[in-house]
Amino acid sequence: MAVVSRHIAALAESQSFAMAQRVMQLKRDGVDVVSLTLGEPDFDTPKHIQQAAQQAIADNYSHYGPVKGILSLREAICNQMPGYMPDEIIVSVGAKQAICNAVMALVDEGDEVIVPTPCWVSYSEMVKLAGGTNVFVKTTADAEYKLTAAQLCAAITERTKLLILCSPNNPTGSVYTKEEIVELVEVLKEYPNIFVIVDEVYSAIVFEGANELTSESMSELGERIIAINGVSKTYAMTGYRIGWMACHNKEVINACDTLQGQYLTCACMVAQKAAEAALTGLQECVEEMRKEYAKRRELILSLLDEIPDITYVEPKGAFYVFPDVSKYYGKRFGVKTITNSDDMVNYLLGEAHVACVAGSAYGEDTCIRLSFATNEANIREGVKRIKEALLQLK
Ligand code: PLP
Repeated sequence: MAVVSRHIAALAESQSFAMAQRVMQLKRDGVDVVSLTLGEPDFDTPKHIQQAAQQAIADNYSHYGPVKGILSLREAICNQMPGYMPDEIIVSVGAKQAICNAVMALVDEGDEVIVPTPCWVSYSEMVKLAGGTNVFVKTTADAEYKLTAAQLCAAITERTKLLILCSPNNPTGSVYTKEEIVELVEVLKEYPNIFVIVDEVYSAIVFEGANELTSESMSELGERIIAINGVSKTYAMTGYRIGWMACHNKEVINACDTLQGQYLTCACMVAQKAAEAALTGLQECVEEMRKEYAKRRELILSLLDEIPDITYVEPKGAFYVFPDVSKYYGKRFGVKTITNSDDMVNYLLGEAHVACVAGSAYGEDTCIRLSFATNEANIREGVKRIKEALLQLK
């Protein structure tokens, strides 16, 4: 009899974390690696938020709290999400757990979940965990890697339970416009049993175009929307592990409450108080970080423009660019031929000591993901190494 259950044995390791671990090991071995793998802000958590965490310890926030999260935090979340009541919010250990709760609450064995690709690495594994079936819909660079209404229509079957949208997107940086969302909503109105998870963890990092929250633009779908957000990316608080879901559907909220009550109890109370301070405090820090990402985005795009035979869709949000490097597939380095994105990132790491994540991890093998949540010097050196390495391929 197998030791590990079928459900867990079927899960893939997170490739972005795996790459980050390899980088750490190389650095420990003394190799000068430039990492463009980071999936988190490189800034320190703003001082006033750190102080709120210290104050929460001093104030003895050291007991169990409500399963759904501290009321004052849920109220602060509602102030940012007009139309939601505190009872419709569940605070979890990061947006990751909030998404997983929602998937586990909604998806039964055999239910289909539409996941537009390229997409964040964890959605598909959460769907697998729930026993659901991933229906991947490949979006194209021509459509700026966004799901079109026609694609959505074609993917829906009578087993479809859920659609997962992410805007701004990891890894492409794509942001849906209001018009695009309205078209998707028109399709979804025809299918009243389909729920939509809208992952907006990068919503505060938008560079151009409409800055309308996708979940707000979908409000016509009412109870079927599960909006996900958190403090990780907005306030450089990844280690605090606070995220949440907002949903008008009581059955979904109650299910997640029960689920979380059984396997979590509540998110860390000290971290919840820090998150509350983040949401209710001055917001200048968010704009300062956003401006810094905007500068880095300009820089990395201008450097990529100097590399022949690569193309990219300009990221409109988040801190990633997802260049298509497939023109270099089929070329050789010594006896080794680069045939896919995994070969490419292994080559770049092994020969040029620059780390990025293979597009295969996100369901798009033509591309690699570069993060610009790192300083200017790293961006310059990293892209220089990529350019030199690509030009060496024969
Ligand atoms: N959603 C997306 C698209 C992400 O990229 C990430 C983290 O990388 C998460 C959710 C999870 O964020 P959290 O730190 O809040 O769990």
